[in-house]
Amino acid sequence: MTDPTIRRVYMDYQASTPVDPRVAAAMTPFLFEHPGNPHAAEHSFGWEANAAVEGAAARVAAAIGADADEIVFTSGATEANNLAVLGLSARAEKGRRRILVSAVEHTSVLAAARAAAARAGLVVEAVPVDGQGLLRLGTLQELLAEDVLLVSVMSVNNEVGAIQRVAAIARMAHAVGAIVHTDAVQALPATPIDVAEMDVDMLSLSAHKIYGPKGIGALFVRRAIRDKIEPLIYGGGQQDGLRAGTVPVSLCAGFGEAAGLMTGAAASAERVRVSVLRDDLARRIAALGEGIAMNGPAGDARHPGNANLRFGGIDAQELLGMMQPALAVSSGAACTSGTPEPSHVLRAMGLSAPEAGESLRFSVGRFTSEEDVDFAVTVVEDALKRARESSPLPALGRAPHLTAASAKCS
Ligand code: PMP
Repeated sequence: MTDPTIRRVYMDYQASTPVDPRVAAAMTPFLFEHPGNPHAAEHSFGWEANAAVEGAAARVAAAIGADADEIVFTSGATEANNLAVLGLSARAEKGRRRILVSAVEHTSVLAAARAAAARAGLVVEAVPVDGQGLLRLGTLQELLAEDVLLVSVMSVNNEVGAIQRVAAIARMAHAVGAIVHTDAVQALPATPIDVAEMDVDMLSLSAHKIYGPKGIGALFVRRAIRDKIEPLIYGGGQQDGLRAGTVPVSLCAGFGEAAGLMTGAAASAERVRVSVLRDDLARRIAALGEGIAMNGPAGDARHPGNANLRFGGIDAQELLGMMQPALAVSSGAACTSGTPEPSHVLRAMGLSAPEAGESLRFSVGRFTSEEDVDFAVTVVEDALKRARESSPLPALGRAPHLTAASAKCS
């Protein structure tokens, strides 16, 4: 553990958020006072656990404009994305053999699509994005045809915060009879969600990106397409057979509370507050020297807490290492174990591999303060000075998480 007396600031909200104390409070009764199995229908302990799960499903559903019976709880968004892509592919009609994904999807969609292609004999095609990370709708239109099974485009990108035009994408995909899935893991902190307005058939969520606990997510499956999805996990038939296994009651209760907190006026005000902090942070870091620029879109097309900054001429891994342990940000470059690969998102946006390697993602959120921003700017300034002087790397010169065993996408 890091020395607790050392000041550290967390700006990696898009990797994971702290649990909101209100969420923790909603969870604890189901760890202690209410031990029942929600699927035990014969006693009151089971009934109260079941009521908590149903209440949580209703709250998650309400946060996205769905019905409670359209929510399938999973272990997280990785599983939700796998269930969407592999589950649909396993029951693909003969005439629908193609899957279209955006080039900037999270690896849990990309890898699931590749696996689905290998298992079910399908073809995966990546739809390109523009320099801001937004899907090229014209190319999507050209690629769409009656043989497309699935179009999967994320709502909000985890690296550069690009907010996709999902409703327009869904309209185009539905015109050829394709099913539409969106990975909306990063969406609620950025924008209200409504599955009817977005016109999507499946949508993935993860609690730990919205101030809920790690280890739970959900897949919204529109009632009308439920029969098209083959489960990934078989067992006792829980969740209408779509995902067997005892549902984790306290995690559900936390997820429901977290989702509830992401709706309404307070959530809108939070998005504005966070964007002000993000703008201040980005502006002040950009002022630290020449050649510091934002990757990705501006204004309403961007996640309010995301600043993905390129430090021209600086190795981002080295810069990140120099900031440790004071400031937690992300290079987005650790998607394969072993040698860090340049971010596939930044590469798809047209950055060269060296340019992608100069970029860091700062992400702020609910518990970020103005003092945190002040501190972060001084940490970056100091690290930049040292990087520019090419001083030898200190002991922690390489971000310690980038080891072969642990390097993964977040
Ligand atoms: N999709 C996106 C866009 C993400 O940012 C993440 C988390 N990094 C995931 C999917 C995977 O979510 P989980 O950690 O819940 O498996």
